[in-house]
Amino acid sequence: MKKPNVSFTSVFILLVIILLPLFGISQQSLKRETKPDYVLVIHGGAGAMDRSKMSAEAEDAYKSGLMAALEAGEKILKSGGSSTDAIVAAILLLEDNPLFNAGRGAVYNEAGEIAHDASIMEGNEGKAGAVGAVGIIRNPILAAKAIMDDGRHVFLIGKGAEDFAVKAGIDTVNPSYFFTQPRWDSYEKTRQTRLEREFPLNPKGTVGAVALDKNGNLAAGTSTGGMHYKRVGRLGDAPVIGAGTWADNKSCAISATGHGEYFIRSAVAHDIAARMLYGNQTLEQATDDVVMKKLKALDAGGGIIAVDKDGNIAMPFNTSGMFRGYVKAGEKANVAIYEEEN
Ligand code: ASP
Repeated sequence: MKKPNVSFTSVFILLVIILLPLFGISQQSLKRETKPDYVLVIHGGAGAMDRSKMSAEAEDAYKSGLMAALEAGEKILKSGGSSTDAIVAAILLLEDNPLFNAGRGAVYNEAGEIAHDASIMEGNEGKAGAVGAVGIIRNPILAAKAIMDDGRHVFLIGKGAEDFAVKAGIDTVNPSYFFTQPRWDSYEKTRQTRLEREFPLNPKGTVGAVALDKNGNLAAGTSTGGMHYKRVGRLGDAPVIGAGTWADNKSCAISATGHGEYFIRSAVAHDIAARMLYGNQTLEQATDDVVMKKLKALDAGGGIIAVDKDGNIAMPFNTSGMFRGYVKAGEKANVAIYEEEN
């Protein structure tokens, strides 16, 4: 009785040993077939967007701004460049575009000043850099990158950050460079009427990008003027590593936009990566749980863009719109604003 049992067990174990690697190989090749060579996802802010109030010209202007940013980033990824360079190229164009609340088109704080926040992170070694409350750096994302590359610190704010940027050879400008009539009009309106002083303000126009490059490296970056009429000295989630920005080659890259106070308190970007890493959630499940359940339950408006290590993307938002776009190797670039365009 004992003999046949032993031989059955040995045959079974042998079969498992032979078949398991084969199964593993076929799974891997399947993944290799579907994983795109590179991916770039961008956003230009989430918020309440009423389709009936946006003119066709305005829609076109936003969409062509997003498209130009995607093209600039894709050019780098296509030629084998890094995800870091690609997201910086995309964010630079969005910062220079006065339509978006970052760089040139930033909103004013309650003192009528510009105070930019920006951050960047690389998924390979987990390097990161961030600036907060800066007002003379033409492209804050470049200052964040210079801090990351320098490596001594992660986060510099105010004058220290500006001095560092000057020493690093980054362009500075007179604050009047950031003047845009629509932003100034909203500032004046709030100052005079004292309406909209408290949250929820209508955040829109923060910019961000995430990418996966041909070497499998992820990167994420976010840049903003912050909340309209914010208190002097207020920092949002955009420059906070783990809240507005996160990248880890083992899970995903995230850039967020929305009501920053809640995004900081929920460690949004890191929470999504942690759910994938420790809870085995897919990118879709993790982003959906955080944006559509957790943040929504807090009445925290906003959204995120994400790409995971396998090139899957997610762009959930719980507001009526989010300026967004993506491009994958071999596919046409895609931009959208409203929910129903998904
Ligand atoms: N998250 C940004 C902040 O709180 C604002 C935004 O994304 O619109 O500063």
